[in-house]
Amino acid sequence: MFTDKNNIGRLKLVGTWDLAFYPIESIKRVRLIRRADGYYCQFCIDIEVKVDAQPTGKAIGLDVGLKEFYTDSNGTTEPNPRFYRQNEKRLRFCQRRVSRKKKGSSNRKKAINRLGRRHLKISRQRKEHAKKVARCVIQSNDLVAYEDLRIKNLVKNHCLAKSINDAGWYQFRKWLEYFGRKFGRITIAVNPAYTTQQCSHCGTIVKKSLSTRTHVCRCGCVLDRDWNAAINILKSALSTVGHTGTWVTDPNASGDLTATEVGAILSQQVDSMNEESPHL
Ligand SMILES: [Zn+2]
Repeated sequence: MFTDKNNIGRLKLVGTWDLAFYPIESIKRVRLIRRADGYYCQFCIDIEVKVDAQPTGKAIGLDVGLKEFYTDSNGTTEPNPRFYRQNEKRLRFCQRRVSRKKKGSSNRKKAINRLGRRHLKISRQRKEHAKKVARCVIQSNDLVAYEDLRIKNLVKNHCLAKSINDAGWYQFRKWLEYFGRKFGRITIAVNPAYTTQQCSHCGTIVKKSLSTRTHVCRCGCVLDRDWNAAINILKSALSTVGHTGTWVTDPNASGDLTATEVGAILSQQVDSMNEESPHL
């Protein structure tokens, strides 16, 4: 079916995915990948995934954190999966095993492979968890807002728990956006500036240190820190869609193309649920 330049020969396909279901033209790329537990063949298939989902009439803001996986604008929290903690312990254990073995020895190679498998297992668990939670959030909301946290800002840290979380959020966001397209929902990444410090009720800046867990404002607003942030995230997202999709839209005024697109989708969602949606 395909050739590489290394005379790899014929390969037998094992697994549960029925590739014959897809026309040959839609297979865009084939890659062989080596992982700690064996070799994998990856087929990139170009297909349109779209599901006709009913509107829910709901919008939500999510604040990701260290303590919880996320806190939403309704005050509900999604806890971190228990395997995060367990994995940390096991990773440290495997890492110690590697460093205790003599360099170049076959025992060290075995220990390295075990560490690699452990990493692989963790990344698979993380992926499954992020996927499951993201699908659930997307299915129960028309609009989902979250902070635009660039992964590069989060890489430099030595805390294992945090790095596991960071990778989890990164994947979570990717899955939110994937399912957003699939189910025709709106996903918005907002600027994270002031989402924690601002009062979600009156807009006043209320300075907080990292250890301040509760937002207390002079206006009388008292909320959990993350809940307050989640409301701000949702508000910020709604303010970007609120002024678009009307007759007087000036693209230069907002300077934000995605906001216009979002407005178009939003008004379309409201006006004509049964019509064909434009290709984005
Ligand atoms: Zn206030």
